Amino acid sequence: MGIRKVSEQLDWQGKRVTVAGLGVSGIPAARVLHGLGAVVTVVNDGDDERSRAQAAELEAVGITVRLGDGATLPPGTELIVTAPGWKPDKPLFLAAEAAGVEIWGDVELAWRLRGPDAAPWLAVTGTNGKTTTVRMLASILEAAGLRTAAVGNIGVSLLDAVLGDEEYDVLAVELSSYQLHWAPSLRAHSAAVLNLAPDHLDWHGSMDAYAADKGRIYEGNRIACVYNAADKATEDLVREADVEEGCRAIGFTLGTPGPSQLGVVDDLLVDRAFVADRQKNAQELAQVSDVQPPAPHNVANALAAAALARAFGVEPKAVREGLRAFRPDPHRIELVEEIQGVTYVDDSKATNTHAAEASLAAYDPIVWIAGGLAKGATFDELVQGSAKRLRGVVLIGQDRALIAEALARHAPEVPVVDLDRTDTGAMSAAVREAAALARPGDTVLLAPACASMDMFANYNKRGEAFADAVRALAATGDA
Ligand code: ADP
Repeated sequence: MGIRKVSEQLDWQGKRVTVAGLGVSGIPAARVLHGLGAVVTVVNDGDDERSRAQAAELEAVGITVRLGDGATLPPGTELIVTAPGWKPDKPLFLAAEAAGVEIWGDVELAWRLRGPDAAPWLAVTGTNGKTTTVRMLASILEAAGLRTAAVGNIGVSLLDAVLGDEEYDVLAVELSSYQLHWAPSLRAHSAAVLNLAPDHLDWHGSMDAYAADKGRIYEGNRIACVYNAADKATEDLVREADVEEGCRAIGFTLGTPGPSQLGVVDDLLVDRAFVADRQKNAQELAQVSDVQPPAPHNVANALAAAALARAFGVEPKAVREGLRAFRPDPHRIELVEEIQGVTYVDDSKATNTHAAEASLAAYDPIVWIAGGLAKGATFDELVQGSAKRLRGVVLIGQDRALIAEALARHAPEVPVVDLDRTDTGAMSAAVREAAALARPGDTVLLAPACASMDMFANYNKRGEAFADAVRALAATGDA
């Protein structure tokens, strides 16, 4: 990665910087800071074979690495650059605060290092739908002929985007609540909070603290703060934000939009915010069927993406073209097969109850495959909300009893198959059981509402196991 475009504003020469965490953000941060002339020490909790190999590579270029001790503040530290996942109550940070040392995350570092003519950021956060929305947004911006990329918490480093040789007109940036926590001076052109539901509360400490970190995305916005009209908490965050003079609050809704909102009228996505005379006028942007897949929560994501693009001045035509060109990432309400009139959908990425609730709301009737690691969640609300649409349920994974209990309380008439196995064939068995419960016209939906790591390496592997089992069922009649 070149550092051609780096901001001249900060003098890094000889500055003593501690990088917290060897990893996807720490290693590039350490290299960049070292390249700028900073005196870099990397501290890391772990001291395993992998971190030793990584440390050796950094030490070879003159970076100090301290393995097995991520708690003590190296003497003389003037700045900490931390991996976003490090919890704020770590002793390292408490020591830094006591010593008046600033703490930046990977996003803050990229923000500070971007050059004077850097591309503005259109930023997205929320409990669910971030990746989908950011990809939709990038697709729309591309359709408008803009040089752009989907970056951030999406697997593409912001540092690369900000410092690399590629020139951008605008960036579509996905930000997690952790990244926002550590990004105090970030000022987006416009930003959206898609929704807010309890998640990662062990990290943030409370729902209020989680919401406050998400709300940081609106701080200093210049053109638009985009909120979800169906989720009051997101609108409250806009109200609390300190924005640039003239910045507008723009809502998105699955209903008819009011003035300064984007929404849905009949089968059309319409804009009643970025049009002349918004009291009387609305502008057609696209058809609901242009959204892939057109499940309600995904239409909401499309509206949020469209709002950010329109805030950036993109024409309606490009919104439609961008949405049409967009293809969802795997394992997000992905249609796998239709077998004997039953549709099989893989939403393995539904790793929390809020996401599962959205996908359960998109189908009727459903044979639901659920379970895994609950991460402290409760399932009563989820089960209550979807009980009427459930043809049957197949439960897998470590915490399945929690879901079984919620089903017994709120949907006692729904048949439940409790699969007490975690071997590699478990998902095939789950698909077979689901197929036996389903009738033509039903959807078999893998939306686990839980993390996957009790049985699979990650949600991708869980989704692949499901899709493989479904394809085996299609080919031979046996999963
Ligand atoms: P994130 O990047 O926030 O994890 P993704 O776009 O990867 O979001 O989607 C994650 C999961 O959340 C998917 O299972 C999807 O079905 C669900 N989801 C997507 N958009 C929404 C939304 N707007 N509201 C609720 N759930 C959603």
